[in-house]
Amino acid sequence: MNRVLASRIVSSIQDVISSGPNSSLSVSLHEPFFDGTAAIENVTDCIRTGWVSSAGTWVKRFEDEICQFTGAEHAIAVVNGTSGLRLALHLVGVVPNSEVIIPPLSFVATANAVAHLGAIPNFSDIHSSTLALDPVALSHYLSDIAVKTDSGTINRRTNRLISAIMPVHVFGFPAPINEIVKVGLEWNIPIVEDAAEALGSWSNNIHCGLCGSVGVISFNGNKIITTGGGGVLITNDCHLAKSARHLSTTAKLSHPWEFYHDSIGWNDRMPNLNAALGVAQLEDLDRRLSAKLLLFQQYQDAFQCLSGVELLHSIPNAIANNWLITLRLTNSSPIEALSLRNEILSLAHHSGILLRPSWSLLNQLPMFSSSPSAPLPVAVNQSHRLINLPSSPQLHPSYTSTF
Ligand SMILES: *Cc1c(COP(=O)(O)O)cnc(C)c1O
Repeated sequence: MNRVLASRIVSSIQDVISSGPNSSLSVSLHEPFFDGTAAIENVTDCIRTGWVSSAGTWVKRFEDEICQFTGAEHAIAVVNGTSGLRLALHLVGVVPNSEVIIPPLSFVATANAVAHLGAIPNFSDIHSSTLALDPVALSHYLSDIAVKTDSGTINRRTNRLISAIMPVHVFGFPAPINEIVKVGLEWNIPIVEDAAEALGSWSNNIHCGLCGSVGVISFNGNKIITTGGGGVLITNDCHLAKSARHLSTTAKLSHPWEFYHDSIGWNDRMPNLNAALGVAQLEDLDRRLSAKLLLFQQYQDAFQCLSGVELLHSIPNAIANNWLITLRLTNSSPIEALSLRNEILSLAHHSGILLRPSWSLLNQLPMFSSSPSAPLPVAVNQSHRLINLPSSPQLHPSYTSTF
């Protein structure tokens, strides 16, 4: 029974991706791609001029273009998404031994960034429609554990400050950010958006990352565009932007020769070399978004006639970038879903399609298993059902045919 359905699902995936190029090679979820762009010219410019490191004109240009694309007033490019999240959390007031509310279904970096500041993740459940923090569950959880005091909102169970809420736009699907921001306002807790996967995703015409105090996008090799390694903070708060810039460049005061630093800073700025690559990738972003939408529609057609599976799609008024197109198994029993999922993964890997399940839940990892947590029934249930599909834009013929 499982075997038949699993093989139908895998052959439907095969049908979609074998219409793209290189169909004989193994296929990963999201692969970097540089053809048809100015990548080599831009990077060569850095090498020729010697401006490869923490100063140079490409960084400013990359930041300006990020502002233009997202509508952010400020963008601060950093070495990677993880350090960007750590910096963003620090800037909104996350201090050691405080708690940051995060969803359990995310990449490990979300929780690591909290821990790097000596703070403690506190998990609140997700909603099945977005896979993001559920604002209703969040509000109930806070009513349960939190109390507002003169020194901030305190978790009554642990006596620790709740210093931030960090929703994640999972796989590029926008979280219900307005509702989450509302809960944050009610409890006086700042919002940092983990928009690492969400470049090109919008809610109510606002780019992901711009509804909270600050958002962070990643340009790791597997993201929608890459700078090799990199990230960017986006915000409309000019004070926060100024501090971000200062603290990410060793907190050095500007002076022609003096080395004077007025606080403990980090060396977090994106090197010019990476930004040069980023500018070339950004020029390709619109084309990628269009090709990925077409790929999503192809998958949708392919799965239309199969019962027991559905493709995730964004909620009303939200536009997803289709970073990782995601299949959900709709069996009523999570145990059966898990066994079907494993059958599909094993079958696909044998045919060179490197499908991936969603991450292990963060609260189940050894370093976070004793962190405080709400009950997480939805996250546990969903985590058995999700499979990410190959989603590189170069899998759609429309993308490469224009070179
Ligand atoms: C990729 C990612 C990060 C971290 O970004 P890096 O640039 O790899 O450090 C953080 N959160 C989520 C949800 C991610 O997918």
